[in-house]
Amino acid sequence: MSNEKTYTGSCFCGEVEFTVTGEPAVMGYCHCDSCRHWSAGPVSAFTLWIPEAVQVTKGKDNIGTYNKTPQSYRKWCKTCGGHIFTEHPDMGLTDVSAVLIQDFPFKPGVHVHYQETVLHIKDGLPKLRDLPKEAGGSGEVLPE
Ligand SMILES: [Zn+2]
Ligand SMILES: [Zn+2]
Repeated sequence: MSNEKTYTGSCFCGEVEFTVTGEPAVMGYCHCDSCRHWSAGPVSAFTLWIPEAVQVTKGKDNIGTYNKTPQSYRKWCKTCGGHIFTEHPDMGLTDVSAVLIQDFPFKPGVHVHYQETVLHIKDGLPKLRDLPKEAGGSGEVLPE
Protein backbone atom coordinates (compact mmCIF):
# COMPACT_ATOMS: atom_id res chain seq x y z
CA MET A 1 0.00 0.00 0.00
CA SER A 2 2.80 2.43 0.90
CA ASN A 3 4.16 2.70 -2.65
CA GLU A 4 0.76 3.61 -4.13
CA LYS A 5 0.64 7.02 -5.67
CA THR A 6 -1.37 9.78 -4.03
CA TYR A 7 -2.83 12.67 -6.00
CA THR A 8 -4.32 15.86 -4.62
CA GLY A 9 -7.35 17.78 -5.77
CA SER A 10 -9.49 20.69 -4.71
CA CYS A 11 -12.73 22.51 -5.37
CA PHE A 12 -12.90 25.67 -7.49
CA CYS A 13 -11.86 28.03 -4.64
CA GLY A 14 -9.52 25.72 -2.73
CA GLU A 15 -11.49 25.66 0.56
CA VAL A 16 -11.93 21.92 0.15
CA GLU A 17 -8.96 19.70 -0.61
CA PHE A 18 -8.77 15.94 -0.97
CA THR A 19 -6.46 13.15 -1.96
CA VAL A 20 -6.97 9.98 -3.96
CA THR A 21 -4.60 7.07 -3.55
CA GLY A 22 -3.85 4.10 -5.78
CA GLU A 23 -5.69 3.30 -8.99
CA PRO A 24 -9.35 3.97 -9.75
CA ALA A 25 -11.57 0.96 -10.44
CA VAL A 26 -12.96 2.50 -13.64
CA MET A 27 -12.41 5.68 -15.63
CA GLY A 28 -14.57 7.06 -18.39
CA TYR A 29 -17.24 9.49 -19.47
CA CYS A 30 -20.86 9.68 -18.34
CA HIS A 31 -23.50 11.05 -20.71
CA CYS A 32 -26.52 10.80 -18.39
CA ASP A 33 -29.06 13.56 -17.92
CA SER A 34 -28.41 13.70 -14.15
CA CYS A 35 -24.70 14.34 -14.57
CA ARG A 36 -25.49 16.92 -17.23
CA HIS A 37 -27.82 18.89 -14.97
CA TRP A 38 -25.52 18.55 -12.00
CA SER A 39 -22.37 19.58 -13.85
CA ALA A 40 -23.95 21.99 -16.33
CA GLY A 41 -21.72 20.36 -18.95
CA PRO A 42 -22.56 17.99 -21.80
CA VAL A 43 -20.35 15.12 -20.56
CA SER A 44 -18.71 14.26 -17.23
CA ALA A 45 -15.28 12.65 -16.97
CA PHE A 46 -15.40 10.27 -14.01
CA THR A 47 -12.92 8.25 -11.98
CA LEU A 48 -14.46 5.65 -9.65
CA TRP A 49 -12.56 4.75 -6.47
CA ILE A 50 -13.19 2.59 -3.46
CA PRO A 51 -14.36 5.03 -0.74
CA GLU A 52 -11.23 4.48 1.40
CA ALA A 53 -9.05 5.75 -1.46
CA VAL A 54 -10.66 9.20 -1.24
CA GLN A 55 -9.74 11.35 1.77
CA VAL A 56 -10.86 14.92 2.43
CA THR A 57 -7.78 16.72 3.79
CA LYS A 58 -9.21 20.23 4.19
CA GLY A 59 -12.63 21.83 4.58
CA LYS A 60 -14.66 18.75 5.55
CA ASP A 61 -17.31 20.97 7.21
CA ASN A 62 -17.52 23.04 4.04
CA ILE A 63 -18.96 20.21 1.97
CA GLY A 64 -22.63 20.19 1.03
CA THR A 65 -24.50 17.04 -0.02
CA TYR A 66 -27.46 16.53 -2.30
CA ASN A 67 -28.99 13.18 -3.10
CA LYS A 68 -31.74 13.31 -5.68
CA THR A 69 -31.68 9.51 -5.70
CA PRO A 70 -30.34 7.05 -3.12
CA GLN A 71 -27.77 5.95 -5.73
CA SER A 72 -25.87 9.23 -5.79
CA TYR A 73 -24.76 11.58 -3.01
CA ARG A 74 -23.37 14.58 -4.83
CA LYS A 75 -20.88 16.73 -2.92
CA TRP A 76 -19.92 20.34 -3.50
CA CYS A 77 -18.06 23.18 -1.77
CA LYS A 78 -20.38 25.48 0.19
CA THR A 79 -18.15 28.50 -0.56
CA CYS A 80 -17.67 28.31 -4.33
CA GLY A 81 -20.29 25.78 -5.36
CA GLY A 82 -17.62 23.75 -7.11
CA HIS A 83 -18.21 20.02 -7.34
CA ILE A 84 -15.95 17.61 -5.50
CA PHE A 85 -17.15 14.03 -5.78
CA THR A 86 -20.22 11.81 -5.79
CA GLU A 87 -20.71 8.81 -3.52
CA HIS A 88 -22.48 5.79 -5.02
CA PRO A 89 -23.29 3.62 -1.97
CA ASP A 90 -24.98 0.89 -4.08
CA MET A 91 -21.88 0.45 -6.20
CA GLY A 92 -19.58 0.92 -3.21
CA LEU A 93 -17.60 3.47 -5.21
CA THR A 94 -16.92 7.19 -5.12
CA ASP A 95 -16.83 9.18 -8.35
CA VAL A 96 -14.21 11.91 -8.29
CA SER A 97 -14.42 14.37 -11.19
CA ALA A 98 -11.31 13.58 -13.23
CA VAL A 99 -10.67 17.24 -14.00
CA LEU A 100 -10.23 18.13 -10.30
CA ILE A 101 -7.30 15.78 -9.65
CA GLN A 102 -3.96 17.50 -10.22
CA ASP A 103 -1.55 15.87 -12.68
CA PHE A 104 -3.68 12.73 -12.76
CA PRO A 105 -3.09 10.42 -15.75
CA PHE A 106 -6.75 10.12 -16.83
CA LYS A 107 -7.14 7.07 -19.07
CA PRO A 108 -10.83 6.72 -20.00
CA GLY A 109 -11.91 3.21 -20.93
CA VAL A 110 -15.64 3.50 -21.52
CA HIS A 111 -18.57 5.83 -22.15
CA VAL A 112 -21.70 5.11 -20.07
CA HIS A 113 -25.37 6.12 -20.48
CA TYR A 114 -24.64 6.88 -24.13
CA GLN A 115 -28.35 6.54 -25.02
CA GLU A 116 -28.77 9.94 -23.30
CA THR A 117 -25.90 11.67 -25.06
CA VAL A 118 -26.08 15.19 -26.47
CA LEU A 119 -22.44 15.14 -27.54
CA HIS A 120 -21.25 12.23 -29.67
CA ILE A 121 -17.57 11.52 -29.17
CA LYS A 122 -15.84 9.45 -31.83
CA ASP A 123 -12.82 8.27 -29.87
CA GLY A 124 -13.13 4.54 -30.57
CA LEU A 125 -13.94 3.66 -26.94
CA PRO A 126 -16.96 1.42 -26.21
CA LYS A 127 -20.25 3.32 -25.87
CA LEU A 128 -22.58 1.58 -23.43
CA ARG A 129 -26.32 2.16 -23.72
CA ASP A 130 -26.50 2.43 -19.91
CA LEU A 131 -24.12 0.62 -17.56
CA PRO A 132 -22.00 -2.52 -17.65
CA LYS A 133 -23.82 -5.74 -16.68
CA GLU A 134 -21.75 -6.03 -13.48
CA ALA A 135 -23.03 -2.59 -12.45
CA GLY A 136 -26.66 -3.56 -13.05
CA GLY A 137 -26.96 -2.28 -16.62
CA SER A 138 -27.70 -3.96 -19.97
CA GLY A 139 -24.05 -4.02 -21.06
CA GLU A 140 -25.30 -3.23 -24.55
CA VAL A 141 -22.87 -1.36 -26.81
CA LEU A 142 -24.22 1.41 -29.08
CA PRO A 143 -22.67 2.82 -32.25
CA GLU A 144 -20.68 6.04 -31.77
ZN1 LIG B 1 -14.65 25.88 -3.01
ZN1 LIG C 1 -24.05 10.32 -15.14
